[in-house]
Amino acid sequence: MNDDTGRRFPAHDASSGSTVSEAAAGAILTIDLGAIRENYRRLKARLNGVRCAGVLKADGYGLGAAQVALALAKEGCDIFFVALLGEGIALRKAIGPGPDIFVLNGLPPGSEPEALAAGLFPVINSAVQLKAWRETARSAGRSLPAAIQVDSGMARLGMAPAEVEAVAREAGAFDGIGTRFVMSHLARADEPQQAANETQRREFERLRLLLPAAPASLANSSGIFLGSAYHYDLARPGAALYGVNPTPYEANPMLPVIRLQAKVAQTRAIGAGTGIGYGHTHQANGPLRLATISLGYGDGWHRRAASAAWFGGVRLPFIGRVSMDSIILDISALPAGRLSEGDLVELIGPSQSVDDAAGHAGTIGYEILTSLGARFHRRYLGG
Ligand SMILES: *Cc1c(COP(=O)(O)O)cnc(C)c1O
Repeated sequence: MNDDTGRRFPAHDASSGSTVSEAAAGAILTIDLGAIRENYRRLKARLNGVRCAGVLKADGYGLGAAQVALALAKEGCDIFFVALLGEGIALRKAIGPGPDIFVLNGLPPGSEPEALAAGLFPVINSAVQLKAWRETARSAGRSLPAAIQVDSGMARLGMAPAEVEAVAREAGAFDGIGTRFVMSHLARADEPQQAANETQRREFERLRLLLPAAPASLANSSGIFLGSAYHYDLARPGAALYGVNPTPYEANPMLPVIRLQAKVAQTRAIGAGTGIGYGHTHQANGPLRLATISLGYGDGWHRRAASAAWFGGVRLPFIGRVSMDSIILDISALPAGRLSEGDLVELIGPSQSVDDAAGHAGTIGYEILTSLGARFHRRYLGG
């Protein structure tokens, strides 16, 4: 890549997973591909022989779709789901031919030839998309695979019940479509006591019988834990692979996958009455020792996310506001001189899980993961 002065810049290299060296970075994100593989095996064990795909939307929940796909492929996973066609095209380039890649959000009108050329399969969410893919198959002169999604009660993506009934009555509606799966998605799978789950499952049963006979798929991560009635022929976990708790009502059955550490940029001692950070939202009551770390909301660390970092098992509370590129920590609990410039403190890891950080921010682990910044040095373990 060149800028307008003609200097050369290295292109982003997906295989190394990082554009910034460990020495240069303000923070280091470690992604344990071995833990992702173990999580896949744990889900497989629960599924008792039912096939298990890998959901890699939003760049593998922020952790690197290509790296995750290659790790899952080693466990025998050969079906992947992305959200967008662009994600699918990038993933196909990175992992080559072989595994099936389905595009969950469907294909934008006019993009069918691009999907075909990249060897990607749509999740068909409407009668309009069904017709477009049927015509693509006719021009290609062969049958083309697709998944058909029905809306069993979430009102987000998939053919509405009336639409399913209409295409079911239409002669030739599925000509040239190789229906690989009929699928639907659960709105409340992480709340096992909710009747909505069973209502959706029954509606899914009813609708899929109207469509061409094909394997069925309903369960996301949490859906796998609703029991075998929800497993059908293919499960589609995302979050659980990445260590987010699929059973928030009980202990996390998955292994943690990431560790996020930020570098100390500077330390200082301050006296009573000193105002700290933007807006002086905090004033020191007495002498304090502070460390400023090189990570902030510009790295996707929400201003309301977890309010402490950790060092050697000691909690170091945030003090003052989270800035774009930095956060101030109260390190008075550590012996003087214990922490110096360049040392790493933990934001996510053994002392504070992704779900802990999410809880503080009033959000979910999914959002913490997909917000993780582009400025981190990324280190992959167990590839
Ligand atoms: C995101 C998504 C999944 C995976 O959900 P998790 O809760 O991350 O396991 C499965 N199916 C569909 C349709 C999705 O959009």
